[in-house]
Amino acid sequence: PATKTFHSLRPPIHLPQEDAPISVVDYVLSIRSASRWPDSTAALIDSATGQRIPYSDLLKRHKSLSYYLQHVLKLSRHDVALVICPNCVQVPILYLSLLSIGVVVSPGNPVSTGSEFARLVELSGPTIAFATSSTAYKLPKLRLGTILVDSPEFESMMTHTFDLDLNLGLGPTQPSQSDVAAILYSSGTTGRIKGVMLTHRNLIGVVALCRSSAVAAGERASPAVLLYTVPLFHVFGFIYSLKSVALMETVVMMPRFGLDGMLKAVEEFGVTDVAMAPPVVVAMVKPGSSERYDLSSLKSLVVGAAPLGKDVIAAFKAKFPAVELAQGYGLTELTGPVSRVLGPKESKKWGSVGRLYGLLEARIVDPETRYVGDPEGTIDNMVINEWLRTGDLCYFDDQGFLYVLDRLKELIKYNGYQVAPAELEQLLQSHPCVADAAVIPYPDEEAGQLPFACVVRRPGCILDERSVMEFVAKQVAPYKKIRRVAFVNSIPKSPAGKILRKDLRKMVLAPLLTT
Ligand code: AMP
Repeated sequence: PATKTFHSLRPPIHLPQEDAPISVVDYVLSIRSASRWPDSTAALIDSATGQRIPYSDLLKRHKSLSYYLQHVLKLSRHDVALVICPNCVQVPILYLSLLSIGVVVSPGNPVSTGSEFARLVELSGPTIAFATSSTAYKLPKLRLGTILVDSPEFESMMTHTFDLDLNLGLGPTQPSQSDVAAILYSSGTTGRIKGVMLTHRNLIGVVALCRSSAVAAGERASPAVLLYTVPLFHVFGFIYSLKSVALMETVVMMPRFGLDGMLKAVEEFGVTDVAMAPPVVVAMVKPGSSERYDLSSLKSLVVGAAPLGKDVIAAFKAKFPAVELAQGYGLTELTGPVSRVLGPKESKKWGSVGRLYGLLEARIVDPETRYVGDPEGTIDNMVINEWLRTGDLCYFDDQGFLYVLDRLKELIKYNGYQVAPAELEQLLQSHPCVADAAVIPYPDEEAGQLPFACVVRRPGCILDERSVMEFVAKQVAPYKKIRRVAFVNSIPKSPAGKILRKDLRKMVLAPLLTT
């Protein structure tokens, strides 16, 4: 039978003409200028220091920095800039400034190791990096070096031309919508991490989607105050940093996440909305975790990046009946958002990741029979006939609500962070006592999933669980650590040598999870 296409049930979205010479920053600022909030509204608040940057200042800083990047550092259209920073107030201004002059922004996880950064550099070819004093030392040397965003020099780059009436005169550096705007990192359906290229047009589309959700949610009496617990290098935080400027939201930045710090910031800054991954919801529902704080300003939590258990949703609704819990589903490869729950009526559909955003269409295909006689091909191809394969096992109900049941692709998500099994397998296989190895997800209530190594020992070798874990831990960022190990006699493989992950999961996990 013909495959059914699901269309979005949300109102249509109007985008600029495809050939209009605008960047995502032009688009964001054009929406912002139509806002009814005054420029004295706080754009960014540093939760640690209490520093407040109002919109009037954010715009000046953005202009000044863009001028500096273009005319002093001589960065130009198509250059790539690596951004390796924890969440901080400088980063959204840096993103806007780089994007406005056509520099491709490539943000990476600041906890990565030197060799992981070397891989990002190999993939995206940056000429310059922006980092903090705590991350810069891990980066390889780039042609234009590394700029520290927490230095007085960076502060002066953002403020030195405050008094000049700047005419940026972008000329030939003006990016077009088809230019690559950002390179984010994701492992896709198989293998090691890849650089996902997103264009200005892609980002414009997603900012437009976020804006339409805000319009549908209705006007607020005062500007929304958002707290991001999601990192700015992940598509969730990256997109949010643009949409918040477009919608003139106040963003509270937490450089270091901790549940108490988050709840204290909600109380102190009157936070109305928090963007988070499921582990934070799990922590919030624990008895005694939040009772000490006045959270009455809180209106909604937007939760995405990994599945949220139904029992956690139930516990949350019981504990915070006045707070809307909106799940969203998305992928880096799709520039982020695919679907979300919008408004109190939709959030009654527990467990659903909501309805498709406008502009989106989806198909449900049979993972077993997509390619007749070629099950491996099915798994390997992310783009099939111009459709992007999500690698997730999903269904729609008869009202267009989407549900994610399982993940078919290799990807493991630990606390919402991507862990590519292939990368850990390669490391494990380099151990002299390992004959073969495969890494699969192990379910965990708090982190979602743990990287779980199935190892075949070389005959005659002595190798215990701890030494396997330590061997990997020394070489990877903390969120990629192997947290469980099982020794097996062999790894099930297809005739072509591909790991049969489903069989392995059945073989190794089933007995562990039933005991
Ligand atoms: P990323 O590119 O890091 O955002 O990872 C995308 C993947 O995260 C998706 O393909 C899903 O496997 C998973 N994911 C994201 N949001 C959700 C959600 N709300 N529920 C279940 N899985 C999710």
